[in-house]
Amino acid sequence: MASRISVPWLLAGRLASSTGRSVTGASSTSPLSWTWRSAPRQHQRRLYSAGGSPSGNKDRVKFWPFLAVVAVGSAGYIGLVNRRKDMSRSIEAPPTDAGQLPAPAKSTPTFSPSDVTVVFVLGGPGAGKGTQCANLVKKYGFIHLSAGDLLRAEQERPGSQFGDLIRDYIKNGLIVPMEVTIQLLENAMTEALSKAGTSKGRFLIDGFPRKLDQAHKFEDSVCPAKMVLFFDCPEKVMEERLLERGKTSGRADDNAESIRKRFRTFIETSMPVVEYYEKQGKVVKIDATPSPDAVFAKTQGHLTERLGTDF
Ligand code: UDP
Ligand code: MG
Repeated sequence: MASRISVPWLLAGRLASSTGRSVTGASSTSPLSWTWRSAPRQHQRRLYSAGGSPSGNKDRVKFWPFLAVVAVGSAGYIGLVNRRKDMSRSIEAPPTDAGQLPAPAKSTPTFSPSDVTVVFVLGGPGAGKGTQCANLVKKYGFIHLSAGDLLRAEQERPGSQFGDLIRDYIKNGLIVPMEVTIQLLENAMTEALSKAGTSKGRFLIDGFPRKLDQAHKFEDSVCPAKMVLFFDCPEKVMEERLLERGKTSGRADDNAESIRKRFRTFIETSMPVVEYYEKQGKVVKIDATPSPDAVFAKTQGHLTERLGTDF
């Protein structure tokens, strides 16, 4: 990646000296190339030794530690800004082939709600969304699309330009930029329908939308949702389940630290989505604390009530 923020040569030079490493390729106007090279040990020692620099200038001895802090801080900040810019650039980049992400913005939904039934399945991490979706697939033949699973698959796909980005977001319990997730969902819906050779289908969209803007964007550009199944579960119970699952799941976010972050994101960012749909009367809230069978029995009851017996 070519850095789009240039670091003045003076700063780069100070960074090089003060860290005992060198930064090459910098100039006052051209982008900085972050090639690091270890400097000789003697140089590193000299920097902090009481004797000061070889020239014996006392002011420089006091000044360098301060400069080092400023330079390292600036370099870190510039790196962060560039990384952010690079992320948004790659998300906005137009697709070069049909399977690539993301598609251009659209103003009308790809699927009509008269052909395609979308049920969002929400709930905190570990509430049991995946388990209940599996039951619903078996019993009613829904097509189950887990946003988290699609993101993890994209993360592992060789050649994906989003792999590292997705890994970072998931590990930190953050919401991956919606363009990526929505395009993955739309691609999966299109693929599922074309595999079935039909334009009609019923989808359980699991773990999505987790943020209000995702909800708006998905409904505007992919398909309006019919209803929301919300599995409500106390944090303590979810935490126990996730820690238990973490023993075998191999998921990078099923550990105490990531779980804490996921809970925070859920409360701060995802609950407003549930509230938004509640105001529209689209939410069916189910207590997810009992056994999976008991929860499923309740879920079936609510679904048939809403969608009729032959949905
Ligand atoms: N994720 C996301 N956007 C989504 C769905 C998931 O960014 O629309 C990310 C987010 O970092 C989340 C992680 O994927 O914490 C795992 O999601 P998943 O639904 O698999 O977790 P669950 O809630 O089922 O434990
Ligand atoms: Mg899940």
